Amino acid sequence: MHSTVRGPALGGCRFIPYGTDDDAITDAIRLAKGMSYKAALAGLPFGGGKAVIIRPGNLKDRHALMRSFGHAIDSLSGQYITAMDSGTLVDDMDDIATQTSYVSCTQHMGDPSPATARGVFAGIRANLQYTTGSDSLKGRHIAIQGLGHVGLNLAYRLHQAGAHLTVTDIDDNKMLQARQQLNAAICRPEEIYDVNCDVFSPCGLGAVINADTLPRLRCNSIAGSANNQLETPETGLQLKQRNILYAPDYVINAGGLMFVAMRYQQQSDVAIESKIAGIFDTLSDLYMEARQSNQVISDVADQRASEIIQQADSGHFQAA
Ligand code: NAD
Repeated sequence: MHSTVRGPALGGCRFIPYGTDDDAITDAIRLAKGMSYKAALAGLPFGGGKAVIIRPGNLKDRHALMRSFGHAIDSLSGQYITAMDSGTLVDDMDDIATQTSYVSCTQHMGDPSPATARGVFAGIRANLQYTTGSDSLKGRHIAIQGLGHVGLNLAYRLHQAGAHLTVTDIDDNKMLQARQQLNAAICRPEEIYDVNCDVFSPCGLGAVINADTLPRLRCNSIAGSANNQLETPETGLQLKQRNILYAPDYVINAGGLMFVAMRYQQQSDVAIESKIAGIFDTLSDLYMEARQSNQVISDVADQRASEIIQQADSGHFQAA
């Protein structure tokens, strides 16, 4: 748990192999902080946390493992609420829910990926508005990396709004589907960085904006769902120097968290959609502030999130 001053720490459970225990702990700490920042900028009354279970080579009883994890969560009395992340499934959340109510992403609550895609769609519109003066997708060219749960849903949305697409994935079948159904141009995974487009949308892997790829980018802006897109914090400055607008990943991909958090709170679908649509304004505000203060956008986002958490922390302290 990174912070609970704004509310219970909410964040998914990763279930992947790790080289060492230290690697797993470092990952959990880094991811938990990211969740605090994401919830703060999304204006959700939650803190940040993340769980990591080191996936064993010979897993005998997954159901029993998840139930045991659920029991551990319950012992925290609601300070941490778990959800899905890399390597965990809706079925796992259902197993966890047999032991604790501090769990989201169960069958009953639904898949957050379409909500993430709707948030990224709002973010792409914000980027176009800022770079071209219009948020219209008509005739715009968007390059999508990764056609998974988020990327494919996003591709359908963009196509429907009149955008031209170039897409890539390591799975040829997904590319063929996009070519047949969305008239998308396809390219090999390594070629996506060279595509001349309005918006590059990384929806597959982390660290894709790095020393190798940055000089090749031929887009006006970057707006995608992938976590940790910038390889290093300095990459944000290099994007600014190249005049490429960057939507900070944890701001633009917050639609899934909004869905998970607000479903957990049993809020209405209308309230959830309105929150997701607000990603447009949150990004637009950040861009404006970064321009006025001549700062790097990702730094402005980090500062704002950290201030929101600090303010809550001092309020908490005073109330206590
Ligand atoms: P996913 O696993 O369903 O999809 C990822 C896709 O990327 C797959 O189709 C995979 O084949 C493809 N891919 C992998 N390596 C690639 C490469 N080198 N080049 C091109 N494509 C490649 O994952 P997802 O749920 O769609 O999430 C996508 C990204 O968004 C991840 O980074 C995830 O952490 C992040 N994210 C997802 C959500 C959500 O609600 N699902 C929320 C926030 C952030």
